[in-house]
Amino acid sequence: MSVQATETPEHDMHWEYAVPITTIHLLSCLAILPWCFSWYGVVAAALGTIVFGTFGINLGYHRLLSHRSLSVPPWFERILATLAVCSLEDTPSRWVANHRLHHCHSDDDTDPHSPRDGVAWSHMGWLFRRVPHRKSLAFLDRYARDVLVDPYYRALEQHPTAALWIYIAHAIGFGIFGLLLGRWISGDWAAGTQLAASLIVWGVFVRTVLVWHITWSVNSLTHLFGYRTYSTGEDSRNNWVVALLAMGEGWHNNHHHDPASASTQHKWWEFDITYYAILLLKSLGIASDVIQPRHMRQKR
Ligand SMILES: [Zn+2]
Ligand SMILES: [Zn+2]
Repeated sequence: MSVQATETPEHDMHWEYAVPITTIHLLSCLAILPWCFSWYGVVAAALGTIVFGTFGINLGYHRLLSHRSLSVPPWFERILATLAVCSLEDTPSRWVANHRLHHCHSDDDTDPHSPRDGVAWSHMGWLFRRVPHRKSLAFLDRYARDVLVDPYYRALEQHPTAALWIYIAHAIGFGIFGLLLGRWISGDWAAGTQLAASLIVWGVFVRTVLVWHITWSVNSLTHLFGYRTYSTGEDSRNNWVVALLAMGEGWHNNHHHDPASASTQHKWWEFDITYYAILLLKSLGIASDVIQPRHMRQKR
């Protein structure tokens, strides 16, 4: 089945993505209001970046669903995927399909987000342009058939607004938790309302924007800046700043060299926090079949 399709005009805006991305960025600006500030909110943003970004996106969408670098029980896989959905980074099958397309056609004409088409394009511009064939069933069937086999992921695909409603529901959950916590700590509902607002603004909106730009930096910066250990036939690079922010995803040249590996750490100092989380899950008996880097596989 071909994924080639008629090119769409430059101005064909992908409103389903453009509106939420713009809205969440604007709502995150509420963080400058002193009334919305609390250290609880800041901690929620920092911890949330790890929980929803590292576990949801890096571990769930990327290393588990896209590359099958490890196995986890279905219930745990769905928890990870739901954390990723709460990062508002597309449905599981569409994220996986676009990422596999990137690996198959890195930095050529078919790459959805190559910096060769512009830095801003690779960072977030590509999300604003409607590309009908990448929304088609044929595209998903070709690049993410194994994901769509799962009824939960298929349902998310069949109901286009479901992911957005899950995101809204989890934001409401943050608000209710903040309301009750503030009421419990201070004894009045006004303090509860303020803490609810703080947790929603910092713990949801600011955190979502942080996770977005960290993920997007892997698409843009690690194909532009950094060193290359391997000659991989595209522009991928190892970038320590992105690796630090993205918990190991910035060792992107290592990843392109060996995408099947659960680890991007090829030198002792190329710390891969996401892989350490995978090892923790393995020690707890949750993760299995963890694929080692190629040089270690070959040694064995
Ligand atoms: Zn890449
Ligand atoms: Zn990958």
